Amino acid sequence: MRVLARDVAQEFGCRFGRQPTVSRAPGRVNLIGEHTDYNDGFVMPAALEFATLVAAAPRPDRRIQVYSIIMGESRAFDLDAPAETGDWSDYLFGVAVMLERSGRRLSGADLVVSTDVPLGSGLSSSAALEVSSAHALLTASGLPFEPIAVAKICQKAENDYVGMRCGIMDQYVSACGVAGAALLIDCRTLESRNVPIASNLRLLVANSGVRHQHAGGEYNARREACEEGVRLLKPALGPIKALRDVTPQALEANRKLLPHLIYRRCRHIVTENARVLEAERALIAGDFAACGVAMNASHASMRDDFEITCPEVDFLAELAQATPGVFGSRMTGGGFGGCTVSLVEASAVKQVSQILIDGYRVGCGRDAEVFDCSPSDGAGLIPL
Ligand code: ADP
Ligand code: MG
Repeated sequence: MRVLARDVAQEFGCRFGRQPTVSRAPGRVNLIGEHTDYNDGFVMPAALEFATLVAAAPRPDRRIQVYSIIMGESRAFDLDAPAETGDWSDYLFGVAVMLERSGRRLSGADLVVSTDVPLGSGLSSSAALEVSSAHALLTASGLPFEPIAVAKICQKAENDYVGMRCGIMDQYVSACGVAGAALLIDCRTLESRNVPIASNLRLLVANSGVRHQHAGGEYNARREACEEGVRLLKPALGPIKALRDVTPQALEANRKLLPHLIYRRCRHIVTENARVLEAERALIAGDFAACGVAMNASHASMRDDFEITCPEVDFLAELAQATPGVFGSRMTGGGFGGCTVSLVEASAVKQVSQILIDGYRVGCGRDAEVFDCSPSDGAGLIPL
């Protein structure tokens, strides 16, 4: 990442002829708790060493000029006449708009963006771009970076400007991550607890390389199904605000109120919330096997009830689950392709990686990228 920081600063110097600051915000892997964030529930992600860097320097006017190295493209934007572009720059310009709407007056800025988070793979390159952009814009404007407030602003940008109705998880952990730990986030109160990842444990991420079209639309449809479930359960359960307020027992007792599909969507959420808390307990107790059981059950629930997996990630998760040295494995991220995450004994990482790569090639005829990940810190400035 140090090398990448020098590269992005150098690119900035060539394009804009001055010395930038470099802001960093990481991608993330979610250990457990999928689609629970927008249901006011629990999640347990870790920030990754993969991150997005934004080199930045202020301008005397109110223009924002940005070059993305990975896209090979420049875009410009006027803070006094904001317009949507319909492409990648909406993530960044949306953040600028929402920062201003929150009362933070920005100065113009020149920016160069660089990343090593795989794009569109469920490791949240979008949140890494939003949070690193927010950090860069605030730094260029001489304003403080308040992690939780910024996470909410970035989520609003993705919801209202990009049109993806994501929850708060990705932006929260990108802003607030802690090296060596996952975060147990209560998405209702926005409080979090560190859940240390023991040194003899590894988080092995396998990228299926599959990304289904319409994933964004399917994501929003799942969110609507959860909202419909709350609406239909209200007459029986009283003033519930979200599926967070529904226990598995209460859902079972009232399942007749729900069409079967809505019932299954709700069942994923209410059982997933319980699994997140169980995984936290197990990790803290050093009971990695129990954490693995919760992860495997989470995958089955996403596959059968929430229907957000696909054959390729099912294959990777099931192969990992059957491999010695793996405690548990599941799809991670919003779904419809992307990555799996496996909780692996450190000494078995090399062997497990090879089994996943070879098995995926034989079973699915595709190449998987496998990453041995360590939880990293959330957003900050990189010293040059
Ligand atoms: P994920 O968040 O899982 O990586 P998303 O579809 O939510 O997938 O976000 C990916 C999109 O974010 C990309 O298609 C692109 O528009 C934008 N993006 C992320 N990082 C960058 C970057 N460094 N430069 C330009 N666009 C980026
Ligand atoms: Mg995303």
